[in-house]
Amino acid sequence: MKAEKRKVLSNQQVSERYWHMIVDASDLQITAKPGQFFNVLCGESYYPLLRRPFSIYRINKDSNTLEFLYLVKGIGTKQLATIQAGDTVDIFGPLGNGFTLREEGGTILMLARGVGIATLAALAQEAAQQGVRSVAILSARTANDLLAADALQGFGAEVYKVTDEDGSSDVEQVRLLIERIMQEHSIQAAYTCGSKRLSMLLQEIAAGQDIFAEIALEENMGCAMGVCFACVCDIQDQDGATRSVRVCKEGPVFALEQVVLS
Ligand SMILES: Cc1cc2nc3c(=O)[nH]c(=O)nc-3n(C[C@H](O)[C@H](O)[C@H](O)COP(=O)(O)OP(=O)(O)OC[C@H]3O[C@@H](n4cnc5c(N)ncnc54)[C@H](O)[C@@H]3O)c2cc1C
Repeated sequence: MKAEKRKVLSNQQVSERYWHMIVDASDLQITAKPGQFFNVLCGESYYPLLRRPFSIYRINKDSNTLEFLYLVKGIGTKQLATIQAGDTVDIFGPLGNGFTLREEGGTILMLARGVGIATLAALAQEAAQQGVRSVAILSARTANDLLAADALQGFGAEVYKVTDEDGSSDVEQVRLLIERIMQEHSIQAAYTCGSKRLSMLLQEIAAGQDIFAEIALEENMGCAMGVCFACVCDIQDQDGATRSVRVCKEGPVFALEQVVLS
């Protein structure tokens, strides 16, 4: 894991708010796991000084490329969107702990909202490569924001789209959808990212059904190397004791049952 300038092969706007960057990783040993992230310097200047973390959206070991799907939000991502194909981008990683994909047969369920969809896409890719079936519920404000749906379907995932604009993203509606999916599939594990309320729902369902479940947390980060403690969150150990952990170092993926979401 090191900071390196990589050639940008493409950096394109793919919807009103999202951009997709493909980076040449030809001489980079791609050992990255879904759920891990890179801390990216968003421009050549010292402003913004801090790198911004982005999950691996897709890892292509045949063409040796890494892909990021990002929401243009503030100063860092606005600057990232100005990078042109042929320019370089300074990326540091892979960082953190990735998802656990267990070899137990059955189907995995992914529940993602907003930019969390980018984080779970790499997991769908890994599942497809390992012959594990996947079902994804993708939630967003608008249908326009459900970007990775095609990519997930390309990985063989059965995709359900829910949005705020048509009211289908309401927690109780998503609960009914999960219950229906669980009747149709033998769900062996569940993964979530991008929404506290949906994560709380999955935490409750996974606990009730005794399903292995993990969450990828997205906290604002400083160093992303475990030094500054800017990204701490609370988790609860099996004895009920609560302790603070660093999302960048101990995470960003945690056992869903342990994370304190309320
Ligand atoms: C593990 C992880 C994975 C992620 N994966 C993705 C992903 O795949 N796709 C995606 O779209 N998003 C992802 N995110 C979220 C993404 O990192 C943020 O949306 C991004 O950092 C926003 O940066 P910004 O500068 O555009 O926004 P801002 O809101 O401007 O800045 C983000 C952070 O930087 C701080 N900051 C801003 N300016 C300064 C300054 N001048 N000095 C000091 N601090 C400053 C802010 O306080 C805030 O903490 C991920 C986050 C994490 C933690």
